[in-house]
Amino acid sequence: MPEDESAAQKDMAGGIMRWETVPCDLCGASEAEWLLNGIDWEFGLSAELHVVECSQCGLIYLNPRPAPSSIHLIYPSRYGFFQESTGIRRLLKAAYSKIAAPYPYLEGMRPGRILDVGCATGDRNYPYGENGSLRQLQRKGWDVSGSEPDERAAEIARSYGISIHTGRLSDIASFAERFDVVRFNHALEHSVSPTEDLAIAAALLRKDGRLIVSGPNIASAAFSLFRKYWSGLDLPRHFYHFTPATLHKYCENAGLRIVGEYHDGTAVDFVHSMKHVLQSSEVSGRNSTCGESECAGENGSAHLFSPLSRVCGYLAVRSLVRFFNRMKVSDSYTVVAVRGHAAMPTKASGRAENARVALPQASSGWE
Ligand SMILES: [Zn+2]
Repeated sequence: MPEDESAAQKDMAGGIMRWETVPCDLCGASEAEWLLNGIDWEFGLSAELHVVECSQCGLIYLNPRPAPSSIHLIYPSRYGFFQESTGIRRLLKAAYSKIAAPYPYLEGMRPGRILDVGCATGDRNYPYGENGSLRQLQRKGWDVSGSEPDERAAEIARSYGISIHTGRLSDIASFAERFDVVRFNHALEHSVSPTEDLAIAAALLRKDGRLIVSGPNIASAAFSLFRKYWSGLDLPRHFYHFTPATLHKYCENAGLRIVGEYHDGTAVDFVHSMKHVLQSSEVSGRNSTCGESECAGENGSAHLFSPLSRVCGYLAVRSLVRFFNRMKVSDSYTVVAVRGHAAMPTKASGRAENARVALPQASSGWE
């Protein structure tokens, strides 16, 4: 796709950011309705970002978006998921993993081969801490592989002995074997083309293999409440903003049959959205990034986000988040799918009666 030279602009890191305008990845239509303008709450990239909704199929996506040659600029070196856990940070992560729920979507499975797409450093599995990460699965006897476009993160994962393909899934020429599990854990929304990635993922699954896709759900109560402040937007790193309906359509197009769906929103994400409101110009006089608001400094709301305040916030919203999960309007959503075009389940439990995989109980990280 041609890059839009006229839209090129400098980002805060000093690189030249180039943008491209794209058609809908799900149906190919070019017509879309404006949905909202947002900003980058995490790192303060300078552009005002436009989120649109496809007029034909309802897919919600960022348009224009960073061109392929500029994608590295939206993941600065301080992007948390690409950093090695050392020292106190490692101890805190380990402690968090003890109180986080176990990762539920592999329960009941015997260790097999897993490909984790967009695995970052391989030692974390948001929002479950280390639980269900490639590193932990490897210790439990799984044959683990990952793909990761970021060279720095891939190198850290390699240092743990994890087999890593550096690049996007579509960059990888071939895999020698098929997988029991292909997972996109909060990764598919970062994809350049979910259509392409899911087609590849489907082809990589063994006959009874399982695809697991988890990510933000824009058809959520949290998005309705927070809109441009919603943490699930994570602009401009999230190119796509799925609903259960659009994710189902993606799976159907890839020849995948959904055998489980789960609303697994967490208080952590809800509190993160609240934080964006408090660090906004409407409340604090100017917009500040998450990094700034966590430092003692000029932002008036900074003190509201001390670790103790955050824990109190999590405890306060846990019941509300659980209610949203029960009402199926959570801001995180997971589908489990297998190969085959049979009718999708419509039961409230989200389970297909003829499912051939052992399905977990709905659960989430730290509710
Ligand atoms: Zn569309």
